[in-house]
Amino acid sequence: MNVLLASSEVSPFAKTGGLGDVAEALPIALNEAGHKASAILPFYKLVREHGYSPKPVKAGIPLKIGGKDLIFDLLCLEYKKTNFYFIKNDSLFDRDGLYGTPAGDHPDNHLRFGLFSRAIIASIPYIGKPDILHLNDWHTGLVPLYLKYNFKKDPNLKGAKTLFSIHNLAYQGLFPKSLLSQLDIPEECFTASGLEFYDKISFIKSGIVYSDAINTVSEGYAAEVLKKEFGCGLDKILRTREKDLYGIVNGADYSTWNPETDKNIAKNYGPGNLKPKLECKKDLLKEFGIPFNEEAPLVGMITRLAQQKGLDIVANAMDDILEMGVNFVILGTGDERYNKLFKDLAGRYKGRAGAAVTFNNPLAHKIEAGCDMFLMPSRYEPCGLNQMYSMKYATVPVVRDTGGLKDTVTDFNAKSRKGNGFKFKDATQKSMLGALERAVKTFKDRATWKALQDNCLGCDFSWESTAKHYIQLYKRIKEK
Ligand code: ADP
Repeated sequence: MNVLLASSEVSPFAKTGGLGDVAEALPIALNEAGHKASAILPFYKLVREHGYSPKPVKAGIPLKIGGKDLIFDLLCLEYKKTNFYFIKNDSLFDRDGLYGTPAGDHPDNHLRFGLFSRAIIASIPYIGKPDILHLNDWHTGLVPLYLKYNFKKDPNLKGAKTLFSIHNLAYQGLFPKSLLSQLDIPEECFTASGLEFYDKISFIKSGIVYSDAINTVSEGYAAEVLKKEFGCGLDKILRTREKDLYGIVNGADYSTWNPETDKNIAKNYGPGNLKPKLECKKDLLKEFGIPFNEEAPLVGMITRLAQQKGLDIVANAMDDILEMGVNFVILGTGDERYNKLFKDLAGRYKGRAGAAVTFNNPLAHKIEAGCDMFLMPSRYEPCGLNQMYSMKYATVPVVRDTGGLKDTVTDFNAKSRKGNGFKFKDATQKSMLGALERAVKTFKDRATWKALQDNCLGCDFSWESTAKHYIQLYKRIKEK
C-alpha cells in the first residue's frame, strides 16, 4: 500500500494537539509494517525554529489558483525512516502561529490551506502517485473536491483514492462564499449536498462529501457524530455517508511516550519498577512550587485550553478538588479567557495548585510521569491521547465517559480489581468530583492502587495495531 498522509500539523516539526502526534506516528508505523508511506505539511516558521532543515526536492513549482499565479517549493526530510514533505511558501507560512495568534485566526487561512491543498496535488508527480491520499481535518478538506472536479482528467492522479479523517468535527474551516472563485471552487459545489454550510464555504464538509471514505479517530466518536448533540451541524450530511464512515482509535507512540526511556523525566521507571516514579513526582512538584506530601495524590492535566475540554468544570470545582487533600497541576494554552483563568487560579491556590500557561513538550512528559492521576473532563473527545500516555506512565486516568475516552478507559472496580481508570457520566462538577473521590479513596489503599496501576501498564495502545486497522481500511477503499 502506498500512502501519502496530508496534515496541517505533524510532530515534532509543528504541533498544537493530538493531530500532530497522529500524523507523525501513523506513516512511521505504516512503513514499519512494510508499506510505503510519507507525510506532507506546510513549512511553517515553527519548523525552522525547531531546527529542521528539509532539503529541496523541486523549487519554484507554479500554481494557478483563483486566476492568481503562486509558487511553492517542495522540500523533504527523512525522519525515523519516513519521508516528510513540506510545502514552502513564505508569504503564507513563514509567520507566528500555525493557525493564528492570540489575537485571532490568520485572516487568509482560506488561501493558506487552499494553497496547501492544491500544492499537495501538484506535488504528486515529484512524490509518486499514492494508492491512498489520507487527508486530515478541514485544512485538507478541499483536496477531494479538487480531485473530483478540477483534476478529473489528470492522468497523474488517476486511481488515487481519498480517505478523510475527522480528528475534531468542531473545527470546520468556514469562509464567506465570496471566496469561491479565489479558491477555484466550481459554483455547482456550493449547494446543501455539496460544501455549502449555512451560506458559507465549509472545508470540512467538502472533505466529508467528496472523499471516497471517511473515518473518525475512535469508534465511539464515529457513532456520536451521527447524532445531533455531537454533530456540530454536520450530523445530517454524515448520516448520508454512514456506509462509508469508519472509526479507528488512535494509537500511542511508545517510542516517544515511555517512562523506561523518556529523557525528559527525573528518573526512568516501568513495570515492576515503579519506585522511581516518586522521584518524578517530587521533581514535578518542585517545578510548580508545591511542597511534597506522600499522602497527597497529585492530579494533572495537559490540554489545549478550549471549551471542549471541560475546563470551566475544573475551575469551578477547584475548592472541592483541593479539599480532598490532593494537589493539582495543569499545562495548557489556548483561549485567552482560560489562559487568564488558570493563571489566576495558580495565584490563588499557590503551594497547592499550579498552572503553566504555555506549550511545553518536556513538561508534558514530566506531568505524565510525576502525577498519580490524569484528569480529562472533556465535553466531547474524538479520541484523546493523554489518557493512553498516562496509562503507560502508571498515571491513572479520570475521564468523562465520551468518544475515545469511552473506548479506551474502563471503570475500575475495587472488588474485582478490574479496570484501568475512573469514568464519570455527566459534564458536571458533581459527576467529576464523584469520580475523583473514588480515585482518591483507592489511592489511599496502596495495594489496590498498585493493582490498578498494573492494569494500566498492562494496556497496549501501540500504533502497530492501529496501523493494521488503517491498512485494512485503505485496502477496502482501494478495491471500491
Ligand atoms: P487534542 O488533539 O484535542 O488537542 P489529544 O489528547 O488528542 O487532544 O492530544 C493532545 C496532544 O497535545 C498530546 O500529545 C498533549 O500532550 C499535547 N499538548 C496539549 N497541550 C500541550 C501543551 N500546552 N504543552 C505540551 N503539549 C501539549
